Amino acid sequence: MPAKTINDIVALCKRRGFIFTGSEIYGGLGGAYDYGPYGVELMKNIRNAWWDAMVYSRNDIEGLDAALISNKLLWKYSGHESNFSDPLVECKKCGTRMRQDKMKDQTKCDNCGSTDLTAPRAYQLMMGLSIGATADGAINAYLRPETATTTYVNFKNVLDAKPHKLPFGIAQIGKAFRNEISPRGFVFRMREFEQAEMQYFVRPDEDEKYFEMWKEIRRAWWINSLGIPAEKLRFTPHEKLAHYAKAAGDIEYEFPDGFDEVEGIHNRQDFDLGSHTKAQDELNIQAKVIENKDSTVKLSYSDPQTGENFVPYVIETAMGVNRAMLAVMLEAYTEETLPDGKSRVVLKLKPWLAPVKAAVIPLARNVPELVEIANNIENELRKLHIGRIELENSGNIGKNYRRHDEIGTPVCITVDHQTQEDGTVTLRHRDTMEQERIAISDVAKRVLNIVQQ
Ligand code: ATP
Repeated sequence: MPAKTINDIVALCKRRGFIFTGSEIYGGLGGAYDYGPYGVELMKNIRNAWWDAMVYSRNDIEGLDAALISNKLLWKYSGHESNFSDPLVECKKCGTRMRQDKMKDQTKCDNCGSTDLTAPRAYQLMMGLSIGATADGAINAYLRPETATTTYVNFKNVLDAKPHKLPFGIAQIGKAFRNEISPRGFVFRMREFEQAEMQYFVRPDEDEKYFEMWKEIRRAWWINSLGIPAEKLRFTPHEKLAHYAKAAGDIEYEFPDGFDEVEGIHNRQDFDLGSHTKAQDELNIQAKVIENKDSTVKLSYSDPQTGENFVPYVIETAMGVNRAMLAVMLEAYTEETLPDGKSRVVLKLKPWLAPVKAAVIPLARNVPELVEIANNIENELRKLHIGRIELENSGNIGKNYRRHDEIGTPVCITVDHQTQEDGTVTLRHRDTMEQERIAISDVAKRVLNIVQQ
């Protein structure tokens, strides 16, 4: 049974060290969270699964890691400075500030129900910075609100360094910052979050084909790599298209409160490269862009066969890594009643996503021989380089199993007195709680096998 509420996950995250409130000891800061020992591992494993599918498993996509702070002009020509805003409505009675398009009922305050609301006004979402020893502290740079734009402006750099024929893509994972009006849903809507985005550059006449292709590839990834059941996912086309889009939609996951966006797929036409290129008037740009006299580089593509020079279209896949982790945890979270009437919480994660791959537990921590055997097994497992291996040396076996069930460790290896006699250990499986006796010499092979399932 998956989690019923986000609160189940919030409690587990705090209890077991996945996610903490940012700046907690000073009362927190809205929309900022810190990731603890197991949260960093789960995030890293999700990132790795994405990078593996999008970069390592293909020969048409390159990686990039651009700066989080960027020249103001990037965000002028991308349109963010004038357009990246949400409609803000304020309740005149209780002062609550709300994002109009996310209100439960647009005529009433979400907090007090009053109908005395201000008219909506555009609220800029980018976080401005004052960089360097400026005298007046005026905003001269922005924290990026997405990775995408920092990819577009590197189009030529990447292509010059690693030539590709169209179609080809650039993938990037990294932090993004938005001054969200009302952060909510735990890590669902934050002011600092992480995106995994890929920009796929295509010939203008092939945009529709690749838009469909990426819709399918990304949906399959959520199912196969993250273990989200197909029926908990859907694709919803945008009713109102953004000014740059020819087609767009969201992959949505069914959260406890209903379906909501976890990834966007967009056909952005030639808007982005067209906006940032120099010599715009030579390039027959289709999208409506503002005139750019500041860019120093031509962001076009020369077809090696025909010699034709044009601005490629972009198909973008834009996933939120934090939302992916939330969906993965919700899906994996299971409460079970055991035959003895007790209950347990278990995180049934795909083994490669598990923060800890295996735990080694000496049954008696005051018997040095057992601890030494456990240490040796731990060292053998570390040599596999499959991720985190933990040695438990703290208390009773039942508590250890419970902890590892809750953080999703696929397998525990217990060293007991019989180990000293016959060189075998107990292998305990997380999901079935099945226990089997195997030789120490087989442990590494079995663990590797389980983790790769
Ligand atoms: P929304 O409509 O929810 O504000 P968006 O359509 O503006 O999101 P995109 O700009 O397409 O989102 O960003 C791509 C992905 O980044 C989203 O699908 C989401 O998973 C993630 N994301 C966007 N904003 C946030 C946020 N404030 N906190 C956490 N993740 C976010």
